[in-house]
Amino acid sequence: MPLYEEIEIEDMTYDPETLMYSYPCPCGDRFKIHLDDLWDGEDVADCQSCTLFIQVIYEEEDLPPLPDEDSDSEDEAETKLKETAVTEENIIKAVDALSI
Ligand SMILES: [Zn+2]
Repeated sequence: MPLYEEIEIEDMTYDPETLMYSYPCPCGDRFKIHLDDLWDGEDVADCQSCTLFIQVIYEEEDLPPLPDEDSDSEDEAETKLKETAVTEENIIKAVDALSI
């Protein structure tokens, strides 16, 4: 994968709707990286139409905060974990009942 360029995040276009940073690719498409990935320490934006990619130069303090939506999905994952635990508990109870 060829590195096309290193781009300052200030030079990229931010779309608050999709939370995507993008930058024009010489192939006519755009390099894209999600805000989520930037917060995760990911700094490589790639182009879906070719093999080029760019390295994004940024500091975490330059990033807009992630919207609340994201913490909602974390809550969902936690709920699912709890549901799984309850289910396992029920299975253990069921197995106990069977062995009696
Ligand atoms: Zn491209």
